[in-house]
Amino acid sequence: MRVRRIGALLLTAAALAASLTACGGDDKFVIGVKFDQPGLGLKGTDGKPTGFDVDVAKYIAKELGYSEDKIEWKETVSANREPFIQQGQVDMVLATYSITDARKELVSFAGPYLVTGQDILTRADDTTIADVEGLSAKKVCGAQGSSSPKRLVDKFGEPWKGQYLTEQQGYGACLPLLEQSQVDAISTDATILAGFAAQQPGKFRLVGKPFSEEKYGVGLKKDDKETRDKVNAAIEKMFGDGSWKKAVDANFGEFATAFATPPALEKY
Ligand code: GLU
Repeated sequence: MRVRRIGALLLTAAALAASLTACGGDDKFVIGVKFDQPGLGLKGTDGKPTGFDVDVAKYIAKELGYSEDKIEWKETVSANREPFIQQGQVDMVLATYSITDARKELVSFAGPYLVTGQDILTRADDTTIADVEGLSAKKVCGAQGSSSPKRLVDKFGEPWKGQYLTEQQGYGACLPLLEQSQVDAISTDATILAGFAAQQPGKFRLVGKPFSEEKYGVGLKKDDKETRDKVNAAIEKMFGDGSWKKAVDANFGEFATAFATPPALEKY
């Protein structure tokens, strides 16, 4: 009798311990963000990232039941966003991640939560580039796996790629190349370029002639409709309660005026 009761007690204790773990005693919600893009996802000296993507990510995580201390931030660069989602290395990605049909074959997207366009950053004293056509014989830096250099290669062709395109792991690595005149321009989303320009006033020039539509989505496992619906509901709430506008104003500085109203969600 006594032995049995102890056995039952032990079982209860074991079950309790197991359920505590399952409840997320140690469970982390892993979010992929950029670490090198001021205003969007930038790793601070304390190791924690800040920026618009980070603020949207925190809001969504909270709506899904994860307080900030349960979030593990993981750096995603342009090229590893799909594999990280597919391999389960991250639970979601908010990393200036444009929704495209090609990517939708591999992952799912909630959102969009912001819409911007591809633009050009030059050195402040270089006035030779007025729009995308001006890049036809200029050295340009882009990030591997990003849709931005791909758009230029589609436009100017493979010989242009060989002669003029430099690809780095991230846009942060393009910046010193532009400063040191190893390239003439960086071309990617205006949000990213505006963030770089604001960091070093007077040094760079944002051309301001966007030539694409980049809809930022939350990257999720393909066909995880349940999570996608929950994330869309969280984004909708963020749009409606003023938090989205607050995050825009807090992170984009002068460039915030470009984002007066939230975009329409594309639920599917
Ligand atoms: N938004 C574009 C993309 O998803 C360019 C920026 C980036 O590579 O993060 O490819």
